[in-house]
Amino acid sequence: MRGAVIHAPRDVRFESLEDPKLLHPTDAIIRTAVTCVCGSDLWPYRGAEPIGDPHPMCHEYVGFVEEVGSEVTAVKPGQFVVGSFATSDNTCANCRNGFQSNCLHREFMSTCQADYVRIPNAQGTLVATDEVPGEEFWPGLLAVSDVMGTGWWAADAAEVRPGSTAVVVGDGAVGLCGVIAAKEMGAERIIAMSRHESRQKLAREFGATDIVTERGEEGVARIRELTGGIGADSVLECVGTAQSMSQALHSARPGGNVGFVGVPHDVAVDGQELFFSHVGLRGGPAPVRRYLPDLIDRVLTGAIDPGKVFDLTLPLDQVAEGYKAMDERRAIKTLLKP
Ligand SMILES: [Zn+2]
Ligand SMILES: [Zn+2]
Repeated sequence: MRGAVIHAPRDVRFESLEDPKLLHPTDAIIRTAVTCVCGSDLWPYRGAEPIGDPHPMCHEYVGFVEEVGSEVTAVKPGQFVVGSFATSDNTCANCRNGFQSNCLHREFMSTCQADYVRIPNAQGTLVATDEVPGEEFWPGLLAVSDVMGTGWWAADAAEVRPGSTAVVVGDGAVGLCGVIAAKEMGAERIIAMSRHESRQKLAREFGATDIVTERGEEGVARIRELTGGIGADSVLECVGTAQSMSQALHSARPGGNVGFVGVPHDVAVDGQELFFSHVGLRGGPAPVRRYLPDLIDRVLTGAIDPGKVFDLTLPLDQVAEGYKAMDERRAIKTLLKP
C-alpha cells in the first residue's frame, strides 16, 4: 500500500509501505475511505516536536472494515466505520466513566494517511453506520473522528449551557467545530476569536454571533466589553499556546469554565492566579468514543455539517501539498482521497 511518511520538518513523502496486518485478536484492518491532515500534524511538520526516525503520520480516519481479529464481533467486513484518534476497549473503568481517551489499553493512532490502517482495540473503538453513507457524508464523519469530537469535548468541558455565553479561542478546525458544539448545546451568544476572513465566515455559518479580531490583552478587554465587564460563562481553548491559554483563562468570568483541548506547548498555569479567579479548568484528549453515536447521528441527519472545515481536497498522493497548504494557512484543513 501507499502512505505518508515524515522524514524531517517540512519533508513529508508519499511512499510504498508494508500492508498492515492483524497483530492481535482485538485488531481490525480498515480500507481508508477518506483521511486528512490534522492541525496537530503541523507541530512536527514545523519542527516544534521532535520527529526521530521517519514514520507514518496522522490519526483521523473513516473507512471500510477489511478484516477483523477473532475477538472482534461488533463490526464486520464491508461495514463503514468511524473511530477515534485514541483507541479504547470501551470496557475498563476509565472507559465506563466516559474517559475512553484514557482507556487502560489505549493506543493512539498514528498511521492514517495511508490506503489501509490497523485499528487496535477495534471492538471498543469502531462504530459502524447502519448503511454505507453517501460520499457527501464522509468528510463530516471524518471530522467526527477527531476535530468535531474534540470541539464537542471543549464545549462539554467548558460546561456550555442553554442561554449561556461561550468564547472560542482558536479558528482552526477544532475551534470551528467548537462553535458548532456550543451552538448545539444551546449557547445564546458565541464569540469566535479569529483574524482570518474565510474562517470568520465559516464561524458565523456554524453559529458564531460575534467575532473578535483582537488578541492577547486587547482580545481579553474586548471579551470583557462584550460580556458586561465580567467575562464569559464558558471558554473553549482550541490552540495550545501560552498566549491562547492565558487569553482563555482571562476571558472566563468568576465561576465560569475553560475547556482546553489544544495540545499544550510551553503552557504553564499560575496556580495562585487560577485559585483567586474562581475559573474551572478541564481539558485533555477528547473522549471522542463517548460522543461517537450521537455525533454520527447528528451528521447523518444533517443537524451539523463539520465536513465544511475541509476547504481543500487532494488525492492522497499529494499529501505533501496538503501539509504545505495548511502550514501556509492557505487551507483550514486538507481532505485526502486514497
Ligand atoms: Zn487530529
Ligand atoms: Zn478502556
